[in-house]
Amino acid sequence: MSDVINVLKVLVSKNSVTPDDGGTLNYIESLFPDFEAEYFNKGGVSNLFLKKRFGHGEHLCLAGHVDVVPAGENWATYPFRATEQDGYIYGRGTQDMKSGVAAIVQAVQDIVTFNGTLSMLFTSDEEGEAEYGTVMVLEELKKRGELPDYSLITEPTSEHHIGDIIKVGRRGSINGTVQINGKQGHVAYPKKAINPVHLFADRMVQLAGHKFDNGDEFFEPSQLIVTDIRGGMEVTNVTPDSLKIMFNVRNSTATTKDDVEEFVKHLCHGLDYSLTVKQTSKSFITDSHSKIVEVLQNSVKSVCHTEPELTTGGGTSDARFMGEYGVKVAEFGVVNDRIHSVDERVSIDEVEKLYLVVKDVLEKF
Ligand SMILES: [Zn+2]
Repeated sequence: MSDVINVLKVLVSKNSVTPDDGGTLNYIESLFPDFEAEYFNKGGVSNLFLKKRFGHGEHLCLAGHVDVVPAGENWATYPFRATEQDGYIYGRGTQDMKSGVAAIVQAVQDIVTFNGTLSMLFTSDEEGEAEYGTVMVLEELKKRGELPDYSLITEPTSEHHIGDIIKVGRRGSINGTVQINGKQGHVAYPKKAINPVHLFADRMVQLAGHKFDNGDEFFEPSQLIVTDIRGGMEVTNVTPDSLKIMFNVRNSTATTKDDVEEFVKHLCHGLDYSLTVKQTSKSFITDSHSKIVEVLQNSVKSVCHTEPELTTGGGTSDARFMGEYGVKVAEFGVVNDRIHSVDERVSIDEVEKLYLVVKDVLEKF
């Protein structure tokens, strides 16, 4: 059994449901006696930052989360014990993302030297609120002027086989609610009432599905998606007092919260309305010619023999915080077909390849 698989087995055996790190961080720290270790603990969340300066040069931070979502019922194996079967390791977090953490931990142990400063950041709060996780550590590093230049996060990005997808950014998410006010009335006397549904009817066509941009090589178009619409009392003889429409925009870097707000305001011109628009996560993109993307791309090609696609799809991860703090970040990891599901498992071959990719990145960086 290879070393990286042994590390993975230890990590899986520790019950680390968000925000409990389950002893994983102490275990990892114990493997790096020559790194400076610092814990950032708050609100039940633990974060471990390990750092070593090998020489002059840029600062690369390898990052990941040790927490997992609850196991749930009906597992064929015990979820907090790594069970090996037919070339796979079964257990909660095997794909998301203890295999990624194991790959980082083993690769850093196996390199002889590094060109610059190397750090590792592990959080126990990625699957939860993420309030006291990566973002809190980055805020502190920023105050000290110690933010990394680059980051590699080993989240499970691969779709069909390892090496097909590298993530270089994420769409943002903007939520909005617009309420059109009218005056309730009897359906037989429409002139005595102000019906907000009728007032907004022709504008609805323009609102639903509106595209703010055309997308590009890395992003889908930023589109307004209506998520809820309601007004009235579910009767046929009273016209509604107000109409409330909720929507979401998954936005690229070409569209901002202000663009969304302006568009809806413009559309509601002349109506009595209220509007709230809130950005819950920001979009970001790492330049595909930046060092981390180029080095990672080459390492994936040579280890996995694939042509990785650079994308921004999928749900959020801590990479968004790296992006927000100006850290050039890329994400790469094993296939994600069983993340958060029952009988989560990872292919041993994929974990060994991921380990080789991380090691290759460190050697070439
Ligand atoms: Zn994850």
